[in-house]
Amino acid sequence: MSQQEASLLEQYEGFKSLNLKLDITRGKPCAEQLDLSVKLDGILGGNYISEQGIDCRNYGGLDGLQEARDVGSWLLDAPTDEIMVGSNSSLTFMYQYISQAHHHGLEGDGSAWNTLEGGVRFICPTPGYDRHFSICEHLGIEMIAVGMTGDGPDMDQIEKLMRNDPSIRGLWCVPKYSNPTGDIYSDETVQRIANLGKLAASDFRIFWDNAYSVHDLTDQPANIANIRQLCLDAGTEDSLVQFASTSKITFAGAGISFLSSTKKNIKIFTDHLGFRSIGPDKINQLRHARFFTEQAQLTAHMKKHAAIIQPKFDRVLELLNTELGDQTGSNWTQPAGGYFISFNTRPGLAKEVVKLCADVGVKLTPAGASFPYGNDPEDSNIRLAPTLPTIDELDQAIRVFVVCVKLAVARSTH
Ligand code: PLP
Repeated sequence: MSQQEASLLEQYEGFKSLNLKLDITRGKPCAEQLDLSVKLDGILGGNYISEQGIDCRNYGGLDGLQEARDVGSWLLDAPTDEIMVGSNSSLTFMYQYISQAHHHGLEGDGSAWNTLEGGVRFICPTPGYDRHFSICEHLGIEMIAVGMTGDGPDMDQIEKLMRNDPSIRGLWCVPKYSNPTGDIYSDETVQRIANLGKLAASDFRIFWDNAYSVHDLTDQPANIANIRQLCLDAGTEDSLVQFASTSKITFAGAGISFLSSTKKNIKIFTDHLGFRSIGPDKINQLRHARFFTEQAQLTAHMKKHAAIIQPKFDRVLELLNTELGDQTGSNWTQPAGGYFISFNTRPGLAKEVVKLCADVGVKLTPAGASFPYGNDPEDSNIRLAPTLPTIDELDQAIRVFVVCVKLAVARSTH
């Protein structure tokens, strides 16, 4: 064992006696962020009547209140009459949409994906959001991984796949501050995605999950191209379904979610949704609409979020730079927004690093989680989620993490 490895091992053993219990697995807002929205409570002051005169305490309104749809239209840059509002999780909307396509079809009798000979496939840019991939896996939809380039997914690869494989029915996209890479899709990428509908089956869908559209960590945020407009120009508008929510704007467990698509697609979806629900929680929609009466309030609110979490990202990046630099063959992203830092170890070490951390009480997202079927072919990617812990906890967790990375590297060179 080299002297360097012995010294790293000594540091590592030292962590054991600290009985740490640190968790940087999921991108959850911290309590201070949640505190920014406590005025939602009581904001109605006994007035439950919407602008359109709807008593929100009652049943109905499957597509959502007009004023809540306005909030969705700011997040998704789409007209209010093409927005639906749902309950607290946009993931539920995504699941419901895909489940409907899978079990019942989007184009009437005989169009259910699960009856199509040879099955259907989804293109999954990787690393990506693990829960997108779990939906596919759960429904038995085969996933095809394509790489990310820094400007979004590898479009050459996607176009080639789509030309050659008529079974492709879906493409997952997180266009701004992608989970976990932080990619911001370039204008060219968005344009090429908008054109995909021309290469695909008529029930192919782009699942445009704009979960981080206003989650900037910079004063000069990038504006991504408007996919809806580009699809309209290309005549592919029915291939687009967009999603967003206020999960990381107000309360992660009690926000509101949005789905946007053409009126035709929304009608097909709501006809089906009507079997499952008589209507969503309109009171929460009304609360949110009264909390954000103008887009400028939303922008100001997001600046407060950034002020809380920016120092956390800074601390992680500072520690990675000073402790690892370029000595370990690792690399990591410097996101301009969103919730994650994507870290790549030398190939073959991610699982080892995650295990080393877990054994001394620092929980990381399982290695491979950001890949279809949990399979990172390089065993290299680890998603770091800095928002939930306090700065001190984060500091401690990342100090452990860097020692584990160094130790794994030292051991691998035996
Ligand atoms: N989409 C992406 C890309 C996410 O990263 C997350 C949460 O981490 C979600 C969706 C979850 O959204 P919601 O809380 O609205 O279900």
